[in-house]
Amino acid sequence: MGENIPAAPEDPQDRTQRLLALDRAHVWHPFTQMQGWVEPSEGDEPVIIDHARGAWLFDTLGRKYLDGVSSLWVNVHGHKKAEIDSAIRLQLQKVAHTTLLGLASPPSIELAAELARRAPRFEGQPELRKVFFSDSGSTAVEVALKIAFQHWRQRGKPRKARFVALGEAYHGDTLGSVSVGGMDLFHQTFQPLLFDVLRVPTPYVYRWPTGPRHCLESAALAAEAVISGRRDEIAAVVLEPLMQGAAGMIAHPPGYLRRIAKACRDNGVLLICDEVATGFGRTGTLLASEQEEVVPDILCLAKGLSGGYLPLAATITSDPIYESFLGPFESKKTFFHGHSYTGNPLACAAALASLRLFDEEDTLTHVRQMAERLAAGLKPIAKLKQVGDVRQRGLMIGIELVKDRATKQSYDYGERMGHRVCLAARKRELMLRPLGDVVVVLPPLSIAPAEVDLLLEALQASIKEVTEG
Ligand SMILES: *Cc1c(COP(=O)(O)O)cnc(C)c1O
Repeated sequence: MGENIPAAPEDPQDRTQRLLALDRAHVWHPFTQMQGWVEPSEGDEPVIIDHARGAWLFDTLGRKYLDGVSSLWVNVHGHKKAEIDSAIRLQLQKVAHTTLLGLASPPSIELAAELARRAPRFEGQPELRKVFFSDSGSTAVEVALKIAFQHWRQRGKPRKARFVALGEAYHGDTLGSVSVGGMDLFHQTFQPLLFDVLRVPTPYVYRWPTGPRHCLESAALAAEAVISGRRDEIAAVVLEPLMQGAAGMIAHPPGYLRRIAKACRDNGVLLICDEVATGFGRTGTLLASEQEEVVPDILCLAKGLSGGYLPLAATITSDPIYESFLGPFESKKTFFHGHSYTGNPLACAAALASLRLFDEEDTLTHVRQMAERLAAGLKPIAKLKQVGDVRQRGLMIGIELVKDRATKQSYDYGERMGHRVCLAARKRELMLRPLGDVVVVLPPLSIAPAEVDLLLEALQASIKEVTEG
């Protein structure tokens, strides 16, 4: 193995070539067709990111790119943020990791209290006070599903064992979260391994069959009918509030979440909000569900929780749910679930520093200002010939490309339009990653006004080059 590691500083070209060869030989990349990765077409050569600062990524050849998707939706205050760096260093002087199975640690205690303190409160709704840590969005959802399921068994209602999810949902890649997921492309293969879920329609305004005006009412009615009609079988409804991310940046019509939350409350069904993507300021409020004055029974957090530094997730519940797990040791009501790195102290220290920055830098005000700037700049982009729909909630944006604006006809899967726009953007120092034909724009919350302008300029030119050029 030693021969792969050079003794002296290397020329950047040599280093890049050496690393690319090793990457091709040994790294299996997620959500990536490796045949195309190993034998890339012109302009699609892998980029190796060496370091980053603020909203900028730098590759091993010294080229720079604006991080247009926050390193896959996780970064919050920019890269190499001094306050988070030093919080991790400080914790490192004490210990890198100890377990939460049977032991406690200061950073996880402080963070749980801080999350409980910042959780939204509205009269007559649950108070989110109990934090169960894990390490990814998938595990945060997995934990929520298992808690909801076990909760009803221990409340003497074992028939309440099914979940309701949206048609095109995405909640992660472990089998439980894939079961509640509904994206055929990702999930179909695993069908025989999955549990059965009750589906309600995705409130996809742009593509609602009877027209955008009817989306809210029809989608809400359909969901309400399932929730009230099968209340005795349903453990919980799980959804992403306001904006479905991986499903294609699908913005829900205002009022939808509130309707679902009310139906859940009226029918004794738990509501699980997966704010893995929408949480931590992404949509302009700390949590997206706040905008509809909804507090779920179970809240899932991950991605931005640690500021985009380390894997960390939290599933937060109310006291009544927590209490159904209490009993004498012999009752076996324990929640038998946990991960090796649950509540990792370095990650919790990063999360605490990130939350402090929300106050010190008034991050949410900045998000709203940058969101307005983006909204203004997106107007001309929305008029481009091949742009069907532009959807924005705060700094969470999807631009849906279509073959035909009048009929909303999509491009063929093999045309890879979204991918081609992202490659064109890369030439203009903007790093993006699409979801099919939806170009995703999701910059770090700390993005500066001048960087927003650069992003918009590169984005517009790239879409034009690929769709009209
Ligand atoms: C990314 C994502 C997940 C999965 O999170 P991982 O950390 O990738 O496991 C779950 N739910 C939503 C809404 C997400 O965006």
